[in-house]
Amino acid sequence: MIISKNPYTGKEITKHEEAGEKEVDKAIDKAHSRFKSWRETTFAERSKLMKAAAKELKDNAREYGETITAEMGKPITQAIAEIEKCAWVCEYYAENAESHLARETIETDAKKTYVSYEPMGVVLAVMPWNFPFWQVFRFAAPALMAGNIGILKHASNVMLSAKNIQKVFERAGFPKDCFQTLAIGSKKVEYILRNKKVKAVTLTGSKPAGSSVASIAGDEIKKSVLELGGSNALVVFKDANIAESVKTCVQARYQNTGQSCIAGKRLLLHKDIAEEFLKEFTQQVKDLKTGDPMNEDTFIGVMAKENLAEELEKQVKDSVAKGAKISLGGKRDGAYFEPTIITGAKAGMPVFDEETFGPVISVTEFQEDQEAVDMVNSSDFGLGVSIFTEDDDFAMKLVPKFEDGAVFVNELVKSDPRLPFGGTKISGYGRELSKHGIQEFTNRKTVYFN
Ligand code: NDP
Repeated sequence: MIISKNPYTGKEITKHEEAGEKEVDKAIDKAHSRFKSWRETTFAERSKLMKAAAKELKDNAREYGETITAEMGKPITQAIAEIEKCAWVCEYYAENAESHLARETIETDAKKTYVSYEPMGVVLAVMPWNFPFWQVFRFAAPALMAGNIGILKHASNVMLSAKNIQKVFERAGFPKDCFQTLAIGSKKVEYILRNKKVKAVTLTGSKPAGSSVASIAGDEIKKSVLELGGSNALVVFKDANIAESVKTCVQARYQNTGQSCIAGKRLLLHKDIAEEFLKEFTQQVKDLKTGDPMNEDTFIGVMAKENLAEELEKQVKDSVAKGAKISLGGKRDGAYFEPTIITGAKAGMPVFDEETFGPVISVTEFQEDQEAVDMVNSSDFGLGVSIFTEDDDFAMKLVPKFEDGAVFVNELVKSDPRLPFGGTKISGYGRELSKHGIQEFTNRKTVYFN
């Protein structure tokens, strides 16, 4: 039985019977059979349906948003914003998929040579609860526009949202079985991946989940894309605009109650501005409105699951035992975790070395610019880094030094349908969004006419 429980009230929302192997087989057969006709549709036909999906999302943003808030505790205004962003990615691919996948002519000594981007077939998506709609739509919109079929295994705590996503595509008029949600636990993922009709997998989540899924995909020689979180640094150099960078860093860490792969988790401050920056930063974190996530003015809700809050508490306690100091917050009450600032963080402490998936930021000071670069690169993760400086030439020189998948200057790391998104090192591989994302699940076919 798969249970959706409201982390704020502690009350059960719904129970879902888990699909058995026969049901899973049937769903895959239907998906495979749909692929045969879906791949023949034109971009114009797909685009019309994808625009209808965007409209369905916009027209019902509150209703879908409220389910997100109930299932995983995200403040309602952020949940509605998430739905609106999903409408954006649908519109973006409705407009751009055809040009992203346009035939690419290459001059050779043959009469004609080109690369065509063709769909692969049924793609499995294993998705997390932190952005229950967005994580799925950033896969589904390009995958469907490319002519693929999606099967979703969503996180067990957001099954109602998972069903709502299937509903969005159905209401938009997509042919039946273009996108199906399966109510299954993680143990059934291997069974699906071993099915010959499933051609590829994308997973967003933790390293153990990614490692397990990628091993099975590797064994089956199937394409995989992994997005496994990060421990992004926010590096504030001494010439930074303090007022602007404080505001951005607060957003970068505390939005979505800190439960984001691209959140800025490690604040690296130049010694000369550290005191001034921290004073203002602390004030703004104190001012964040906490409370019932269904209230419009709540900014910090509860964490999605109590066990994740417990894990965060342990990371904080272990770091304090190793010499870090709690300068704000630090306490947990059920799934609620106070917005927290930890100073004196360094290598060897969980808040510095590991991903902290909640409203906790670690602060470390540096003197030399190279020291900051080394601290950024010392992480096992490599999703992204934000640097704050008023000197663009200096920033340009620093960019190639970072090992991450993204560098944002004077901005928090954020996903945007127009830009590729993905990491290096244990943050995963492959790219989502933009033309890079849509091309991931295509067969780049080489065509040669002599
Ligand atoms: P998980 O990685 O366990 O869950 C993400 C998805 O993977 C869920 O659908 C889950 O299903 C599935 N899954 C889990 N284990 C396996 C497996 N062995 N094989 C196949 N599928 C699997 O995340 P958690 O919810 O446990 O969160 C733990 C940590 O993961 C967080 O603290 C954070 O560090 C990281 N995380 C990163 C995210 C990101 O955006 N990159 C998002 C969420 C978490 P089920 O729910 O049924 O277990």
